[in-house]
Order: sequence, then structure tokens, then C-alpha cells
Amino acid sequence: MFHTVFDFVELLSSGLTLWTKMGFGFWKKWLTQCWNYVKALRTTLNIIVLIKAIIKMLTTGILLCLSIFTGFTTISFPNAMNLKVTSNSGYIDYYEGTLNIILAAPHGGDDKPSSIPDRDAGCYDPINNKCIWSHDCGSKDFDRCKATTVNDFATKDLALRVREQLFVETGAYPHVVINNLHRLKLDANRDKSEATFGEEIPEQAWEEFHGYIDSAKTSFHNRAIFIDIHGHPHKNNWAELGYLISGSQLDSGNFYAERTSIRHVASQVCISFNELLRGPSSFGGFIQNNGFDAIPSPRHPAPNGRGYFSGGYNTRRHGSMDGTSRVDAIQIESSNEQRSEGVRPAYARALAKSLKSFLDEYHSE
Ligand SMILES: [Zn+2]
Repeated sequence: MFHTVFDFVELLSSGLTLWTKMGFGFWKKWLTQCWNYVKALRTTLNIIVLIKAIIKMLTTGILLCLSIFTGFTTISFPNAMNLKVTSNSGYIDYYEGTLNIILAAPHGGDDKPSSIPDRDAGCYDPINNKCIWSHDCGSKDFDRCKATTVNDFATKDLALRVREQLFVETGAYPHVVINNLHRLKLDANRDKSEATFGEEIPEQAWEEFHGYIDSAKTSFHNRAIFIDIHGHPHKNNWAELGYLISGSQLDSGNFYAERTSIRHVASQVCISFNELLRGPSSFGGFIQNNGFDAIPSPRHPAPNGRGYFSGGYNTRRHGSMDGTSRVDAIQIESSNEQRSEGVRPAYARALAKSLKSFLDEYHSE
């Protein structure tokens, strides 16, 4: 549960400190009130004062019990306390963790401050055949350089639910990074210029978002997993798992582990890459075992021409395709139904259980 004895002692002492503070306050209040009633009863033996004194002592006694309970809860679940940090820009939330998993929700934010201009379109540069992402680039090209601004509904909530469920499954929390800016203002799954249009505050938030992920990555001593949480609009009710293998490559079977975001773990296991990707012990296989559909998986090995997202900027940047990183990345694009209010709690539980199985199978030393 705790990585080192030092971690445990540190968390225990922070819990005890809080308990002592709360406990002392209630103790003092309780004793003072008791003493006041004893004084009152000494001077006038009044039945009303006596009843009031007994009620007061009972209720303050309950408060005392509550304070002790809170103290012990703090000791038992120290991770639940004060682990959320909001970045300097005010738009990125980071939840510290001890598990070797990072969850990110780049498209789940709703904040649309009017001080930041909307990401609408860039200008087309015909010489280099690319878009220039800026509001001052001249004539904007809404055909070739239109920015994608559709948010991924409920993915912030989904990430936080998976966090809680991972704690239930493992007794430890993953690292979580949330972008609270709407995609109209910042796209935290694009390179910096397309993500921010060169605007100051979005640039700062973009640096913070990736900075938290980078620093979590450096805290790992062994293999770890980065999970980028998104939502797809396709009508298939499955989770599209992106490893940087295109839909047509999945259809043809023409892909190589060295060009994927799980390159590192693929080089460390005995099973074939095809098994790791879509066999019974693949991440998709575990999701299937937990009652939800995913692709690729044993049931759905390939999209067969249907809509499928294979992974974006974050999966490339934070995974192991470069051949040096020991952090593997998977993009999860969940369906509208999987993210719906009624299904989301069970789906988050299934994702957490599947992540735990994947971690136990391939990422524990
Ligand atoms: Zn997305």
C-alpha cells in the first residue's frame, strides 16, 4: 500500500497533527461548557439548568466522538486529504499520487474566460503546406486550418471517478492532471502553437499541464502507464483504445510494436505484440472481462473501416514510442453511453479494475 516506510510515517504524522488540532479544540470547548454548567448548578439547583447541562454534555460528547472519528479517518485515508494542487494560471488541477499511473483529462474543462480569444482558425502557409496558429496571422482559413473545439463531455468527472476506484482497488491513488479550460481556449492535446494560438494564459496553462505529467513521470523508478482520457462521438458503444496504430493498420494487421506508444512494455514481455494489443490479457481484453466493449480487444480486434481514434499528441509525447521512455501511453476514447450519467460510475469502476489488472500483469516489478 505504501511505497516506503518513510511515506507511511509521513502520512501518519500529518493525520495525527490534524487530529490533535481538531481534538484539542473540541476537548477545550467540551470541558469549558461542562465547567460552566457545574458552576451554575452549584449556585442554583434548577431542574431546567440540569436538563440543559445534560443535553449540552451529550451533544458536545457526540461532537467529541465525531472529532475522534475524523481524526482516525484522516489517519486511515490520508490520501483523501489535501492532495489537489491548482496551478498558478488557475486552470490546471493536479492530484498527487503514489501509483505508477497518470490519468489526464485534456478536453474535460468548461471554463471560457472572455479575456482569452476563442481558438477558431489559423492561416494556411502554402509554401510549407501547414497552418499558422495565431490570431494575427492575416487571413484565416476555415477550410484547411479550422481548430477543433468540441469538448469531451464528462471526461473530467470520469477521470476523478477512476481515481477514486483505483484507490478502492489498490489502496493508492494515481497521479491525475485536469485541464479546466474549455477547448475553445486551450487544446491540451495539441502541440503548443495549435493548442494556444500563442496566447499568454493558455501557453502558461499548457506548460503547467505537461509539466505536471513530466514531473510525475520522473518520479517513477520502473515502468508506468499514462492514460489520456477522451470521449468519441462515433455511434459504436465501445471504448477506442489508442496506441498510435491507425484503424486501417488494425484492419490489415500490418503494425509494429516499435511504432506504438506501448513500445517499452512490448519489449519486456514474452507474449506476442498481437496478444498484448488485443488478446485476452490486453487492456481491451480486461475491459471486456469487466463488462464493457473496447477496441482493440478479443471481441473487437479491428474497426473494419468504422470510426476509430488511434491516439493524439499526448499519447505520442508521453508514451514510449521514442524508445527511451519507460512510461507507456494509452488513449481512451469513451462512447457517449459509457460517459452518460447512469452508466459512468460502473464504467469508471470497470476501467479502474482493468487498469489494475494491466498494471499487475505488465507494470509491477
Ligand atoms: Zn478529446
